[in-house]
Amino acid sequence: MSRYLMAFDAGTTSSRCILFDRAGKIRSVAQQEFTQYYPYPGWVEHDAGEIWDTQYFVAKEAMRKAGASAEEIAAIGITNQRETAVVWDRKTGVPVCRAIVWQCRRTAQEADELRRMDYAGMIRDKTGLIVDAYFSATKLKWILDHTPGARERARRGELLFGTIDTWLIWKLTGGRVHVTDYTNASRTMLFNIHDLTWDQEILDLLDIPRVMLPEVKPSSCIYGASDPALFGRPIPVAGAAGDQQAALFGQACFHEGDVKNTYGTGCFLLMNTGEKAVRSENGLLTTIACSCGGRVSYALEGSVYVAGAAIQWLRDEMHLIDTAAESEEIANQAEDTKGCYVVPAFTGLGAPYWDQYARGTIVGLTRGCGRAEIVRATLESIAYQAADVIRAMEKDAGHPLTALKADGGASRNNLLMQFQADLSGAPVIRPECVESTAFGAASLAALAVGWYDSTDDIANQWKAERLFEPVLPEEERKEKLRGWKMAVSRARGWAQQP
Ligand code: ADP
Repeated sequence: MSRYLMAFDAGTTSSRCILFDRAGKIRSVAQQEFTQYYPYPGWVEHDAGEIWDTQYFVAKEAMRKAGASAEEIAAIGITNQRETAVVWDRKTGVPVCRAIVWQCRRTAQEADELRRMDYAGMIRDKTGLIVDAYFSATKLKWILDHTPGARERARRGELLFGTIDTWLIWKLTGGRVHVTDYTNASRTMLFNIHDLTWDQEILDLLDIPRVMLPEVKPSSCIYGASDPALFGRPIPVAGAAGDQQAALFGQACFHEGDVKNTYGTGCFLLMNTGEKAVRSENGLLTTIACSCGGRVSYALEGSVYVAGAAIQWLRDEMHLIDTAAESEEIANQAEDTKGCYVVPAFTGLGAPYWDQYARGTIVGLTRGCGRAEIVRATLESIAYQAADVIRAMEKDAGHPLTALKADGGASRNNLLMQFQADLSGAPVIRPECVESTAFGAASLAALAVGWYDSTDDIANQWKAERLFEPVLPEEERKEKLRGWKMAVSRARGWAQQP
């Protein structure tokens, strides 16, 4: 009788493994960081071999900590950093170069060129994405352009491409299975999210041989069994999803209109739009959400570049707080910000503004503004930015937010959660299990192997820890948002050349 589900959480800076029990409780966690390579300014690389080694190590470590044997593990589910591109030799399993990470800007010009040549509309229509170096397509092209002989070898079927999910499944199955799931495919900028196939027109445009691409499968599906040599006996590999989609699933956002926000370094907001792929008129991306039972669900996605990172700035640069958690206590010493706004546009503004020239700004200072007001205004800026994305989602989806499910490190901040509820005019719900991403991956695997019968089982395990109801009078809410809009207008375009 199996007792555990194993989740691989293959993040950007570390590999983690979590074992969940049948009640959805965490039984053990193991984590190991891996090397970040920054060969030139703006470039970010990972060693895919090291990602596999650390992931395998933490899997065994998590089993050891829980005293679990392979027989007791019902299935493995994977969630991963999205968009990062790996190319390896089909025979030897050795990557041809380091993986190009989602953050890497080396192909920014390539993306500019696609826009200049007027391909942005076609790519947007087919993939749901705004042309950018962030997605896998130009990264894969770069590898083929810059590795001697790679394109020819790929054409002959000697090289394989994958995102991190694909790479881990391939390694887990001893090189027998080359697949990805819909959510990861939808972040490559090569996948047609409407007819669910690799898009030949885009492949031709970038000169990418189709034979090197993985087969695309549902997120909840038995892809294969792990190589018996790894854990002593085979374990079904039965779930895969990109991290943000896994979090949406783990938060039990199964219905149209359900929204989650992960408050980490940045914020990632996703709204389930059901079977409709909504084309955003407000600067959001259209992407594939996890689904099971043969249907495909879609989501709208918007990201905020600087969220928890603004709290790190208060701590590390401004020295106004000693710990991130202290921001709540200090902010509570001020009743309000006395009209002061912080716009933490350190690296520009993401959705819905997409202004790479915006810069950090503090406006509305008066003589009475001190440490508590600045800390409070910085915390509030996280909620304002998320509220802007929510507003864009509401406009695109055509219905108002009914509730927001929160997770991520900064969701522990009660003042932030309350202010978010006040600004959004809808309750904010924080779950008991804040490991939504890993729980999502485990749940996808659980459904595939019949551990769970339906998403109802997941919804039943999902429990709210605390609910934050909006209490701010409407007039005050409008007034605050009006001030925020003005503050953002002051921050915009700041770094633009005159
Ligand atoms: P990531 O996965 O992006 O590394 P986490 O989900 O681990 O992020 O969250 C860490 C971020 O949350 C940090 O930027 C930190 O400043 C912020 N953070 C953590 N705790 C709090 C808190 N109590 N209040 C506000 N921000 C917090």
